[in-house]
Amino acid sequence: MYDVTIIGAGASGVMCALALKENNRNLKVLLLEKNDKLGKKLSITGNGRCNLGNINTDISNFNSKSDLSNFKKNLEARNFEFLNKLDNLNNLESYYDYLIRFGVLLTKEKEYLYPYSMQALSVCKSFERCLNHLNVEIKYNYDVSKVSKKADVFTINDDIKSKVIVIATGGKTYPKTGSTGFGYDILKSFGHTITKLYPSLTHLKTDYKYIKDLQGVRVNVKASLCVSEKIETKENGQVQFTSDSLSGICIFNLSRNVKKYLNENKTVKIIMDLVPDYSNIELQNYIKGFSSYKLQDALSCIINNKLAVALAKELKFSNKLVKQLTKNELEGVCLALKNMRFNITGSGDFNTAQVTSGGALLDEFTKGLESTKCKELYAIGEVLDVDGKCGGYNLSWAFTSAIIAANDILKDND
Ligand SMILES: Cc1cc2nc3c(=O)[nH]c(=O)nc-3n(C[C@H](O)[C@H](O)[C@H](O)COP(=O)(O)OP(=O)(O)OC[C@H]3O[C@@H](n4cnc5c(N)ncnc54)[C@H](O)[C@@H]3O)c2cc1C
Repeated sequence: MYDVTIIGAGASGVMCALALKENNRNLKVLLLEKNDKLGKKLSITGNGRCNLGNINTDISNFNSKSDLSNFKKNLEARNFEFLNKLDNLNNLESYYDYLIRFGVLLTKEKEYLYPYSMQALSVCKSFERCLNHLNVEIKYNYDVSKVSKKADVFTINDDIKSKVIVIATGGKTYPKTGSTGFGYDILKSFGHTITKLYPSLTHLKTDYKYIKDLQGVRVNVKASLCVSEKIETKENGQVQFTSDSLSGICIFNLSRNVKKYLNENKTVKIIMDLVPDYSNIELQNYIKGFSSYKLQDALSCIINNKLAVALAKELKFSNKLVKQLTKNELEGVCLALKNMRFNITGSGDFNTAQVTSGGALLDEFTKGLESTKCKELYAIGEVLDVDGKCGGYNLSWAFTSAIIAANDILKDND
């Protein structure tokens, strides 16, 4: 009989096992993973560099149907002081400290936190070494298909017995990494509500007439998500154009509810300010300086040439010289530069999106992440109804929720 069995050796499951064993070496902890190695998804995060967190972490970067205030303190990594704390490992506070303890050296690039190696694989290796060191038992190639409970004991696949179970099976995205959404079924079987699931942090498809011509362009813009002609959210950052879609961090962060809106037959548009650093008037004065130029040539001195060509095609007077433009036309040009519109027709699916929005309703768990439907059952990571923006927030939730659950389990196993 195991004290704790964790289903899923991804970011949250591994962190939970390490936090448990580090604090109580006597606990019999079992980690079950259906792949032949741990952290298959973790190893491809951040384009292989693993964006582990963000120094600006606060609650506003996370979404959930439930109130996240119980987790606020744990999520907020106040500042980067921890780098100075390397000499003082007795006074540890956030999940950063846990990462360092478990062999992951950290560094930052702008506000983004990475492993010092800048390689996700090294995080997996450090975790593997630590799991061995702490004698965590791991069964790979073990696919959990059934969990039941009788007389305070859980049984997994009619095979393994455990006093406590932690569901760390991830969400539904990138199923080839192992996260097929099975955790939702287990939690449902214990009476939990699963909120509607959507792919989030994904590209958005557009029927923009000249989208093919824009393939490969990357620009920094201010983008707005406009739903039924009302601006819903804004984001600054890089947009990447593909042959049929808008992509990049900025678009990912606007993608969360798009599938839902489209299912509700709402019109969805992305409106881009291509020159957010200059006002309409400043742009008009700038363009006037190109009086003997064709409008398209003047535009290509301001924005990426492919965008300039597309925008000029949209404007009926693109062949005019700048000096021939009427006042209204010149205003119209600048308005177009600051409001380039893309009609959105679809979004990426669960195969391509980075996270699942929705999941097991957080309100049905205690603030230690124990189920209120079934004692000694815990859930952590993406299987819960919490999803973050792009920029390290989802791994920070996976790690933090794992530590929260581990601490709660440890309370009862002193
Ligand atoms: C391409 C990509 C890039 C990303 N980049 C970043 C990034 O840079 N920063 C960031 O913060 N977030 C990033 N994310 C999101 C982040 O990776 C996830 O939110 C995080 O890994 C979730 O952790 P988890 O432990 O909940 O689930 P997972 O990491 O998905 O782990 C779940 C584990 O459970 C196992 N499992 C599932 N079902 C069973 C079963 N029935 N039996 C046994 N085992 C099972 C799976 O095989 C898997 O190993 C990225 C996601 C993707 C897809």
